[in-house]
Order: sequence, then C-alpha cells, then structure tokens
Amino acid sequence: MKDAVGNMELKNERFADFLLAQNQSWQLSANNYRGLKSVEEREFLIEGCKIRVQFNPERMRSSAAKVDSSSIAARKCFLCNENRPAEQKSLDLSNGFLLLVNPFPIFSRHFTIPSKEHTPQLLIHSLRPLFEIARNMVVYTLFYNGPECGASAPDHLHFQAGENGFMPIESEFEVMKLKDETLLFRSDNLRIWAFDGYLRKMISFETSDLEQGVKAIENLCARFSEIQPEKAEPMMNLLCYFRDGKWVIHLFPRRLHRPWQFFEEGDRRLLISPASVDFGGVFITPRREDFDKITASDIEDIFQQVSLGDDEFLKLKMSITNYKLQITN
Ligand SMILES: [Zn+2]
Repeated sequence: MKDAVGNMELKNERFADFLLAQNQSWQLSANNYRGLKSVEEREFLIEGCKIRVQFNPERMRSSAAKVDSSSIAARKCFLCNENRPAEQKSLDLSNGFLLLVNPFPIFSRHFTIPSKEHTPQLLIHSLRPLFEIARNMVVYTLFYNGPECGASAPDHLHFQAGENGFMPIESEFEVMKLKDETLLFRSDNLRIWAFDGYLRKMISFETSDLEQGVKAIENLCARFSEIQPEKAEPMMNLLCYFRDGKWVIHLFPRRLHRPWQFFEEGDRRLLISPASVDFGGVFITPRREDFDKITASDIEDIFQQVSLGDDEFLKLKMSITNYKLQITN
C-alpha cells in the first residue's frame, strides 16, 4: 500500500515538474501563471451551492472563441504539433494523448490533453483513454467540453486537467450523494445519481470498474442522442477524477451553448460562455465589468438557460432506471 501511494505521488510529481520546467523556458506561460496568483474572485452561496466567480482576462480568447465551422476551417489548429508555439513541449501519455501546459490557466496547474491525431471532438470513443488518464493523474480533475459546449478546438479531440479541490462541486457532491432520492442505480461497483436541484442538471457516476463505467456512460449518451438527433454528439460537459480507487464522473447535459446575455450589447451584455469549469462551480469572467456586476440571479438564469430542460432530463433519468432493468434481467 505504501508503495502504491509512493508511486502515485511520483507520477503526479512528473506533471508538476513538467509545468515548472515549461515556466522556466516559456515566458508567456510563466507570466500568466504568475498573474493567476493575484486573480480576483467573488463568492456566491445560492440555494446552498457555492459558486466562485473568477476575473481572468487571459481567458477572453477561449470565452469569445468563434467555433462555427467556417471560422474553424479558416484557422490553423492550435493543438496540432506543427502549429504549436516552439516553446510548448509535450509529455506522451502513451495512450494516444499528449499532455501540454495550458498557457492561459484557470487552475494553478492547468493542462491541455490533445489526441495525437487531428480528429473531431467526440467523447464516445474516448471514454477509455479518459478513464486511464484520470487514474494516472490522481490529484487532478479531468474535463471534457463538447464541440458545441465550450471546446475552443471542436475539430481536435482534447481533454483538460486542473488540480483536484479547486471546483466546489467535488466536495459538494460528497454531501449531495448521501440523499437517497437522488440515487437511481446501484450495483456492487457502480452507482448513478441524477441531480436537478443543483442550479444546473447533473448526472453523476461512481465506479471502481472501468468497463462498467464506460458502458453506463455510453448507454446514457445513446439515449441522449435520441433527444438531440441533429447533433454529432449530444450537448454536454463532463468532469472525471479518480479518488480512493473509484472514478467519479459528473455529466452536465445541455441544450444551449451560450446564454442570451452573451450576445447582448452595452449594459445587458455578460460575456460568459459556460463550460466544464463553470459547471463545476467556478464562473470565468474575462471582462472586469462582468465580474463586478454579475449577480446570483444572473448565475441561476444562465444555468437554467443552458442546462437540459426538465422533460428531457426526465427521459435521461428514466433511461438510468431502465438500465437497471436491462442489466438485472
Ligand atoms: Zn489539430
């Protein structure tokens, strides 16, 4: 056991050391990580849920990114080897993915994890590598932004990772999961919960078995695809981390990319483009005026707009209940 813990720490030091080395040789990245130490935050408690708001001007390029297909076709992919800055090095994660330092951080250790291949952002065939990487990066939380849910490179498959414990959701889930009425499925090594009273809609999985976890998510996504048949993949964000021998996955089903406030002008504008980190409980505001003026009711309203509607969420919940029947028969 002691050895296992020792190995784990060693593995994680490898990522922290890589970040340190990058910041010694890459000025842009070093400046932005230094700037993060003085980043301003506000905190809201809304219906018992903690939401922090981070003022982070360097995230403008991500929040305001044009991700329509013609804009994407007109630019060079910044995740492909040949287009990345010369200073940006990579670690080979040996399952088809590379680990890069994200030079525009939200987290004090923030990585981008692109596929080695330039292939579209789709989750369904990438669940196994996601689980494997999460297991190898135990003090990190991995996240996935769907192609229409905040990924600024929808044409190049990638995850991101930031240190565990940064997003309020991780500790809130430990309390929320104790409410029996939210637990929809239970077997020896898999549990599935659905939460609709958590400002946003969320389905959470906890499993000690990689294959069972992957199958349960695939099953849910298949049902979700029937609800959004026009999409290459149903709209979602996802967080995944490995803790005490189990994977925890939070999936946020969505119906909208950006809220109406994003497209307004003048005082009514709020430049907020919600993605995994916002769903994890940390709202990113790249503009000072939005950071100053955002209210609890704006946050509630934005979550309400972009989360899946009540009727559709009920269908997903029913598919989880039916899943129980499928595997017990
Ligand atoms: Zn690419």
